[in-house]
Amino acid sequence: MRKPLNPSPFASGTLNRFGRSSLGSGPSAANSNTRILGTGPSGRPAAGHPVQAAAGMPSGGAASAPPGGGRAGAGNLGLNSERSLERMVARLREQGIDNEAVLAAMRAVPRHLFVDDGLASHAYEDAALPIGHEQTISQPWVVARMISVVAEGRELNKVLEVGAGCGYQAAVLAHIAKEVHAIERIHGLYEMARRNLRKLRVPGRVRVVFGDGMAGLPGSAPFDAIIIAAAGLKIPRTLLEQLAPGGRLIAPEGGANQRLVLIERTGAANWQRHELDAVRFVPLKPGTQY
Ligand code: SAH
Repeated sequence: MRKPLNPSPFASGTLNRFGRSSLGSGPSAANSNTRILGTGPSGRPAAGHPVQAAAGMPSGGAASAPPGGGRAGAGNLGLNSERSLERMVARLREQGIDNEAVLAAMRAVPRHLFVDDGLASHAYEDAALPIGHEQTISQPWVVARMISVVAEGRELNKVLEVGAGCGYQAAVLAHIAKEVHAIERIHGLYEMARRNLRKLRVPGRVRVVFGDGMAGLPGSAPFDAIIIAAAGLKIPRTLLEQLAPGGRLIAPEGGANQRLVLIERTGAANWQRHELDAVRFVPLKPGTQY
């Protein structure tokens, strides 16, 4: 085997399976914020599968705009994005997403506007893509799955997203919830999310905040739903406390092996935990970064 000429997968401008991007590939842009297939307990990874439901706190943790708008440089994607969105939604259905409001929201947000022009032609593949700063835009299935799980059978008023990244999931959420508060710890991405969201018309209100989402947003709590888009070894207790009664939080949890975990607040001091799909996400990190 020949030694690779460039041993760093993080170098700017490296080739990845999506081609050359000035943003670099990120640590694992092709496989972060994605589902891991073939490891689901049922063998049917698209299906949610509660494997554990316990009263009390989670384990290991705390004690108890309309599409179609192309842009310069994105080639004829504006024209093709309608069809690409239809295909993406059809694929999500095949993959087990059946919440019509979520599918309509996924259909309404032009994902190619959230990625670098060089990657826009891949925007409607079922893949995470690099957005710079070694972070990724989540795989469409992951976005649809997380929102479906928290939105199922309920109206969402106020939602918190931890890890806004480029703002894509916040835009989808703004078609489902009346108020979306999205927090991002990397300043460049916070600015990117604001820029991207400003370009779109969405029915709900979206507020992007620069800060450490592990502390949540106490001034805006309680939330009907909290979605964490980065994986920690345990879900911060502070965030569980910011759930409204009956509220739901979904987050990837774990290190090398991660799963989506759904936690529902069933009482003032009671939370119920369900483990769902095997996934791989970028890390949840403390503090902020300029
Ligand atoms: N929601 C995005 C996914 C972004 S990737 C989408 O729509 O595709 C996850 C993001 O979480 C990264 O931008 C990362 O910087 C951010 N993140 C990690 N730890 C965080 C924290 N403690 N507070 C806020 N954001 C955090």
